[in-house]
Amino acid sequence: MSLDVDPIAETGCFIDGGWRPAVSGQTIDVQCPSDGAVFATIAAGDAPDVDLAVAAARRAFEEGAWSQLSAVERGRLLTALGAKIEGAAARLTQLEAQDTGKPLAQAAADITAAARYFEFYGGAADKLHGETLPFLPGYAVQTVREPHGVTGHIIPWNYPAQMFGRTLAPALATGNAVVLKPAEDACLTPLALAGLAAEVGFPPGAINVVPGLGTAAGAALTAHGDVDFLSFTGSAGVGVQVQTAAAQNHIACTLELGGKSPQILFDDADLAAALPVLAGAIVQNGGQTCSAGSRALIQRGLWDRVIPALVQRFGALVAVPHDADADLGALISARQKARVLGYLDRAGGADAPILATGQIAPDAPTTGHYVAPTLIGPVAPDYVLAQEEVFGPVLVCIPFEDEAEAIRIANATPYGLVAGIWSADGGRLMRMAKAMRCGQVFLNGYGAGGGIELPFGGVRKSGHGREKGLAALQEFTRLKTIVHRHG
Ligand code: NAD
Repeated sequence: MSLDVDPIAETGCFIDGGWRPAVSGQTIDVQCPSDGAVFATIAAGDAPDVDLAVAAARRAFEEGAWSQLSAVERGRLLTALGAKIEGAAARLTQLEAQDTGKPLAQAAADITAAARYFEFYGGAADKLHGETLPFLPGYAVQTVREPHGVTGHIIPWNYPAQMFGRTLAPALATGNAVVLKPAEDACLTPLALAGLAAEVGFPPGAINVVPGLGTAAGAALTAHGDVDFLSFTGSAGVGVQVQTAAAQNHIACTLELGGKSPQILFDDADLAAALPVLAGAIVQNGGQTCSAGSRALIQRGLWDRVIPALVQRFGALVAVPHDADADLGALISARQKARVLGYLDRAGGADAPILATGQIAPDAPTTGHYVAPTLIGPVAPDYVLAQEEVFGPVLVCIPFEDEAEAIRIANATPYGLVAGIWSADGGRLMRMAKAMRCGQVFLNGYGAGGGIELPFGGVRKSGHGREKGLAALQEFTRLKTIVHRHG
């Protein structure tokens, strides 16, 4: 199954508008998670490659063709890239599925989302305005929003194409020149998208991509003295390192980290609408989604109706190779599979009874990284499985009595990314929404990862700063106040 895609065009570093191997000449093998087979190699970028990429971005920002473009021209380039991605969707979908193990339908949705980011921010590029401020007689004061300059971007492996669009499109729309370090476990679509950007006319140095290990290229990018802003998406632990490095250079950063997001089901909820979403929000992408709905909080009176329905749903779920296109695929790597199985070792006892286990397709290669979806409960809110991010297809169920207890439990993890509330009572929905300590709340719905237009981000261990929507334009710019004493 691993060699059924078009030849992979480029796997080197994309710097200053061209492809080059890593300065060291080293490469990293790329595995298909569905069968563990190596099907490509990527450049193992490191500090010297990051130096070249940052220098190229600096030139583009200070003196190159990028800095010459007006906002409307930048917007047109972004829009053209969105259309180009749509046009190449079939090939990119196949590549994304093979690189990540995700089912083709999920990969196709991801490519559509990547294109949408460029469409959305292409349209926004010339609509970012400053203000005029009232001040003293004889003065005119205005604020303008300016790009940071060279922005550094580090993304994880779970949605490589989407993340490319999510983090780069608003940075480019606002005039920054970017250097991206994609994840070593899955970076083929980001490289392909950089190539497409060159084809639609992005000038050299505006977009640079350095693949490689986090501890090598990633650490070099975060520590680089000529980067003006960092945008990091990944684990909370590495987020601390990124923020520390940013502090050393006195620059700001956004951190989009993990989550342990609750979906809260009150006894007046529309179960027909809620139950498929309850299961779907953890199974999507094999549970490897920062905003996965990984905790189901169920009002006690509903427990005996909801659990049998979830048991039935989980029992029917099947993990398959990416091209078989069912509920979920393999996890990204043997390491991630071992991590999830390590958490599942903590289930099965009285603390965390296993209620249902889905299946791994009988013909799935044993060399692939499959984990069967697992439903667990009841679990105490402070149990490890209800506190830590598993990042796999594991849903824990927690009963609660009333609104007050639901709020207490929902907010009692170190994370705060997304919450979903299900109820027919409008007052309760709004009370709950206000009480959630997180960045995004869905009422009678849930969107794990969705919504290009919707500002997204966390609190506490889920990170800070907002991406997506028009809010991202603020993050990727800084405010300058111009005071004119005209007399
Ligand atoms: P990770 O932190 O290990 O890796 C993320 C990226 O950081 C990769 O590109 C990696 O190479 C790089 N990296 C690793 N060490 C580094 C270092 N010392 N310096 C600089 N860069 C380094 O995370 P992961 O395991 O790849 O991804 C899963 C995590 O990402 C989960 O916790 C998940 O919740 C989170 N995530 C969050 C969001 C969000 O928007 N909030 C989205 C997707 C994933």
